[in-house]
Amino acid sequence: MNAPEPYDELVFLPLGGSGEIGMNFNAYGYGPPEDRKWIVVDCGVLFGRETSSPGVDLIMPDIRFLAEQRENVLAIIATHAHEDHIGAIPYLWPMLKCPIYATPFTAVLIEGKLEEAGLRGRPKTVALSSKLTLGPFEIEFISITHSIPEPNALAIRTPLGTVCHTGDWKIDPEPMVGKVTDIAALKRLGEEGVLATVCDSTNALVPGESGSEAKVREALTALIGTLKHRVAVTSFASNVARLDTIAKAAKANGRQVALVGRAMHKITDAARQTGYLKGFPALIDEEDAAQLSPNRILYLCTGSQGEPRAALARIADNNHPNVSLGKGDAVIFSSRVIPGNDIAIHELHNKLSLLGVEVLSADDHFVHVSGHPCREELSEMYRWTRPQIAIPVHGEPRHLAEHARLARSLQVPQAIVPENGHLIRLAPGRAGVIDEVPAGRVYLDGRVLIEEGAGLSKSRRGMAFAGVIAITIVLDGKGRVAGGPSVIVEGIPEPVRGAIADALDEPIRRHNPKRDLDGYELKESLRRAARRAADAAWGKKPITKVEVIQI
Ligand SMILES: [Zn+2]
Ligand SMILES: [Zn+2]
Repeated sequence: MNAPEPYDELVFLPLGGSGEIGMNFNAYGYGPPEDRKWIVVDCGVLFGRETSSPGVDLIMPDIRFLAEQRENVLAIIATHAHEDHIGAIPYLWPMLKCPIYATPFTAVLIEGKLEEAGLRGRPKTVALSSKLTLGPFEIEFISITHSIPEPNALAIRTPLGTVCHTGDWKIDPEPMVGKVTDIAALKRLGEEGVLATVCDSTNALVPGESGSEAKVREALTALIGTLKHRVAVTSFASNVARLDTIAKAAKANGRQVALVGRAMHKITDAARQTGYLKGFPALIDEEDAAQLSPNRILYLCTGSQGEPRAALARIADNNHPNVSLGKGDAVIFSSRVIPGNDIAIHELHNKLSLLGVEVLSADDHFVHVSGHPCREELSEMYRWTRPQIAIPVHGEPRHLAEHARLARSLQVPQAIVPENGHLIRLAPGRAGVIDEVPAGRVYLDGRVLIEEGAGLSKSRRGMAFAGVIAITIVLDGKGRVAGGPSVIVEGIPEPVRGAIADALDEPIRRHNPKRDLDGYELKESLRRAARRAADAAWGKKPITKVEVIQI
């Protein structure tokens, strides 16, 4: 590796994922400040929450800082195929148009996304445990374990030092699908000298270890053995090891498996295409499954997070074309509750209970392990890589702060809690935030990307809370009222409507055509009168629009 030039710096710039679990987007820059070359690690989404951003399905990072210098962006490297790491590629990659690198399983899923979006780009596939040189960066893929095939940590070597970017990980000695964590490579990195470890913080508040997939396999096999009727199991489709676990637990209990939900088919196809799931039991169509005796069926369903369009929600609504569950049947939720989905999952549990279905979940049975490192595992990572600097990412503010405390307690000399948009110099000199660049969120609203703060969420929340009033009034050429007011209301209770209409008489009576020829003052006084009347009658102020038409 070349020696650094006099003005070279190595910087880290998170644009997403530092402050939230989701929309991971991390950039590393190398070179003199006026001519840095960048690599991007991951390009993910955050799922919209109906209450705070109604009508928004996906949220992603604002990457205009890099888009404006896209000729300097050498590549996007995807650590693994979870949506919070690759989900924004179809929307943000067109702003960068740089090469995308990923290991085979991840590359297949990225390719599917680009194709679905009608984009012509294709990811470049890199082999597991291989190396890649991009300008001043030499990148080594290190196999690690998580909750999806082919998670990778990245060793990013530069003339000013090496970064260990862990990606999402845990230590699973028996992951059931794919390689075990390449501990030797991580230790070797530690011996070689690590400047900074940039690390997953999801479970930084959880003591102990996350546990092994092998233990879930034992427990699920035993649990399914106690069930006498139809069984449905729901899990994240991307957790291929879990799908394998569930299918084998079914087989061990004399049950045949039917996949229910598009994502289940998509992921198992991608896994097979890249050499996984070799010993996966033969599947049966959901139509044929209905013909089997109830104790011979296991449905493997999408919808563990209560997603309204997913298979399980439709089954719970008795609205699925081929699958129906009822008294004596059981549904196992082999998954965790993602914060924000609690209410939807709760409702789903209740709907299933009303059908007479027994609901079994991680609350009452050992049916799930997390894919992220708990505190014991984080400690191991610091013992292996022994960095000068710890940078916690992939977490909400509290996770990041607690992770930084843990790293310091493990004798890491410096821990920096980043925020999206913080430009952090890692070398030379003492590491620290040297600048803030434009950052934030963009929303996918229908098919349109909009900036956060464009006001749409606020006005939609306002409409949902108190409805809308639209008032039209017509003035003649001399400013005299010639027609109206016509009032249209939406989402406002009947008795309040009358009060609003009555309140408009007064401003019209007081309108002075000579002083207010174009009706500017009248417009404002009508708006205020309508809102005041609604507030007095109802305690709410609807969004109110007044149009003055001059003839
Ligand atoms: Zn992940
Ligand atoms: Zn993640």
